[in-house]
Amino acid sequence: MPDANRQIVLDQIPQGKLGPEHFKLVETARPEAAEGEVLVRTRYISLDAANRAWMQGATYRSALTSGQVMAGGALSEVVTSHDPSLKPGDLVWGDTGWQDYATAPAKRLTKLPAMEPVTHLLSVYGVAGLTAYFGLLECGKPKAGETVVVSAAAGSVGSLVGQIAKIKGCRVVGIAGGEEKGRWLVDELGFDAAADYKAGNLRAQLKENAPGGIDVYFDNVGGDIFETCLFAMNNFGRIACCGALSQYDGAPPAHGPRGVPGLIVTKRLTLRGFVMYDFDDRRDEALKDLQTWVAEGKLKVQEDILDGLENTPAALIGLLAGENRGKRMVKV
Ligand code: NAP
Repeated sequence: MPDANRQIVLDQIPQGKLGPEHFKLVETARPEAAEGEVLVRTRYISLDAANRAWMQGATYRSALTSGQVMAGGALSEVVTSHDPSLKPGDLVWGDTGWQDYATAPAKRLTKLPAMEPVTHLLSVYGVAGLTAYFGLLECGKPKAGETVVVSAAAGSVGSLVGQIAKIKGCRVVGIAGGEEKGRWLVDELGFDAAADYKAGNLRAQLKENAPGGIDVYFDNVGGDIFETCLFAMNNFGRIACCGALSQYDGAPPAHGPRGVPGLIVTKRLTLRGFVMYDFDDRRDEALKDLQTWVAEGKLKVQEDILDGLENTPAALIGLLAGENRGKRMVKV
C-alpha cells in the first residue's frame, strides 16, 4: 500500500466558468484512522453537476472553500477500521473527496453490498437511481397515459427518469443537447421523442413532440428550459424540481424564468423541490424495484467511466459541457 496520498485541491473558487486552473494536485502522507474512524481507499469517484453548485455557496451542504480537498461522493474500500461496524475489505459510500485515501468516522459512511459490476452502486443503485426514482414517483406522481418531459435527459439522473416513466406507461420526451443524444434516447432507451435545446425553438419542438401538453416535468436544469416547459404544462401538472444545472457554471443569469408565479396559479401546478436524502427511510423499497427492472431488461444502465484521479477536474468540466452520457465517474 503506497504511503503517499494524492489529493485534488480546490485551489480557487471560480467566479466564471470552471477550468483546470481552479484545481491543483498535491501529494501528502497517507492519513491514519483515529479511534472510531476508518481509513478507506477510493475506488470510484462520482462526478455530479452538484459538485459545481457547492462552489457557489451553501446548498443542502455547506459551501466549499478554497484550499480544501475537493469534496465529492465516492465508492471506497475499507483499509483499516477502528469501529466494529466496518471491517477491512468492506465497500462504503461517503463524501470522502477527490483523493486516494481518506479517514472518516464510521457513522459518516454507508456500508454497501458486494456486487458486479461494482459501478452500479454509483449509478442505478446510487444517488442517480434513487434521485430518479423518488423524484419522479413521489414528486412527479406520473399516471399511465400522461406525458412526462425530462431535461438533461441523457445524463445520469435524466436517462433513468425517462425509462422509469416508460415503465409506468407514460409518453416520454427527453430534452438533451444535440441530435446524437436525442437519437440515443429514442433508439436505445425507448423514449418516445427527444427535443434538442441547442437547436433553438424548444417551444415549437415541445408542441410537436408533446402535442397534448406536459403533465409531469422533471427539471434538472432550471433557467430558460424550465420557463419553456412551464408554459407547456397542463392544468394540475406536477413539476419535480431536482436541480438547476444551467445556473451552476458561470456568472449569475441576467434574468430568471418570467411568468412563474402567475402560471403556477392559473394552471394549479404542483412544484416540489426534493433532495434524494429526504427518502432515506424508503431506500430498500426503491432498490428492490430498480433491481427488478434492471434484471428484466426494462432499465438500461449507461455508465461513463474515466480513468485516473488526476483526470477528475477535466471529468467535471466535461460533464458540465455535456460530454457525458449516463453516469460519469472516475476510476482511481
Ligand atoms: P448529468 O445529467 O449526468 O450531466 C449533466 C448534463 O447536463 C450534461 O451532460 C449536459 O447534457 C446537460 N447540461 C449541461 N449544461 C446544460 C444547460 N445549460 N442546459 C441544459 N442542459 C445542460 O449530471 P447529474 O450530476 O446527474 O445532475 C443532473 C441534475 O440532477 C443536476 O441538476 C443535479 O444538481 C441534480 N441532482 C439532484 C439531486 C437531488 O437530490 N435533488 C441528486 C442528484 C442530482 P446536454 O448535452 O444535454 O447539454
